[in-house]
Amino acid sequence: MFAVGLTGGIGSGKTTVADLFATHGVAVVDTDIIAHRITAAGGAAMPLIEQAFGRQFVAPDGALDRAKMRSLVFSDDAAKARLEAITHPLIRSETERERQAAPGPYVVLVVPLLVESGAWKSRVNRVLVVDCRQQTQIARVMRRNAFSRDQVLAIIARQATREARLAAADDVIVNDDTPLDRLAHDVRQLHLRYLALAGAAPPSQSEP
Ligand code: ADP
Repeated sequence: MFAVGLTGGIGSGKTTVADLFATHGVAVVDTDIIAHRITAAGGAAMPLIEQAFGRQFVAPDGALDRAKMRSLVFSDDAAKARLEAITHPLIRSETERERQAAPGPYVVLVVPLLVESGAWKSRVNRVLVVDCRQQTQIARVMRRNAFSRDQVLAIIARQATREARLAAADDVIVNDDTPLDRLAHDVRQLHLRYLALAGAAPPSQSEP
């Protein structure tokens, strides 16, 4: 199945753009959602995480104790690598399964760290970057997550630079002070391009 890898920095608007693709009936597979699912209670990663890190990283309900794990991997690179050795293969295989099962001529894979992890780039047919200025990212994430400016800056510092992301892009969607109807228009243009690239017939006029 033809796959578009959708990426961008935190707060750039990946979810907003993915939701607009979904309005055209395009299947969206979000690796963040999969990562969350495999570390929820009963998730495929949980027995392995308990074995590797101990029961104290499992919350009473059986899900990953996210706050505890976040503070561990923030300061311990080896622990981060151990966690990723468990989660990444599961995220990859689950993403692949959903990609194969998806209806329609192409699928959008939302991969926040696509540029940072070279392996994803080789698994998609096209890289779409949602781009905005850093000050826009900061303002949005402070509002959405009630984070301080410094918290947002610390996350941005651990992600690829805007330049590195743009250099990896086949297509760019600008989402700065973009009104939502403009964004919807841009997504529709990209949708038509991806249908053509995936070898599908163009949609009829009645399609939204
Ligand atoms: P990401 O998934 O890349 O972190 P989101 O799509 O969640 O980003 O967008 C971050 C926040 O900014 C959300 O609260 C979203 O509603 C808002 N947002 C995104 N794009 C726009 C836009 N063009 N106009 C207004 N608000 C936007």
